[in-house]
Amino acid sequence: MQPASDHTAAIIRQNWQRVRAEVDQACHAAGRTTEQVQIVGVSKYVAPEYAWQLVQAGCHILAENRPQALWEKTDYFAHQSEVDIPPAQQALQWHLIGHLQRNKLKRTVPLIDLLHSLDSQRLAQAINAEAERQGLRCRVLLEVNVTQDTNKTGMSIAQVRRLLALTDQLPAVEFCGLMAMSSLDANPQHARREFEGVRELRDQLQDEFVGQVKLTELSMGMSGDFREAIAAGATLVRIGSNLWQGLLAL
Ligand SMILES: *Cc1c(COP(=O)(O)O)cnc(C)c1O
Repeated sequence: MQPASDHTAAIIRQNWQRVRAEVDQACHAAGRTTEQVQIVGVSKYVAPEYAWQLVQAGCHILAENRPQALWEKTDYFAHQSEVDIPPAQQALQWHLIGHLQRNKLKRTVPLIDLLHSLDSQRLAQAINAEAERQGLRCRVLLEVNVTQDTNKTGMSIAQVRRLLALTDQLPAVEFCGLMAMSSLDANPQHARREFEGVRELRDQLQDEFVGQVKLTELSMGMSGDFREAIAAGATLVRIGSNLWQGLLAL
């Protein structure tokens, strides 16, 4: 693979700085500090060398939605850090934000710092077994579907509750919070109400399961609705397209 050109690297750097400034501004507007919101750079649209440039620009969390694409990029990064100056990393993290098939657990569990998309009890049990086998703990967010969209993934609120009641049987899974998406057709006010509903749900679940889990993270907001998500309490915003402007026909 060709390394990204200087021109491409400059575009990626500008995009990162713009996104960083916009997120900081949204934090200020919401009366929150910029340390309260982490930017998860979604690299699923681009080749590994572009993702590498994004880390060089200052992003220290990358996310993919398909396990194979995550493997491809982590392989490239391992190779690249032998031949190039490793990114000035505040320890780089990899997150998975899409469905994780059970037959991909063995290779994926040790690579990821956070799974945003835990979507079933069966998967939680399989992750627990694999993490125990490898002597690891796997940090996860419960993906909850709070919209009426039938094409949206994620668990119902009842499923989330049933799963949280089983945490003592899942010692190798660390439940860290919730992940959600707004409705496809949501205008900003509607998206904000949906995100506030997710935060209220988190608060309620935290009260119910106090002592068992610490649901500190709220992964919500993407390129189109991160401001509303930050206003509603997001701690992780998953930004893709805005980081790759000028490089792709998105
Ligand atoms: C692709 C993707 C994103 C990023 O979306 P953009 O609109 O490109 O910022 C965020 N979350 C999930 C789950 C995704 O699949």
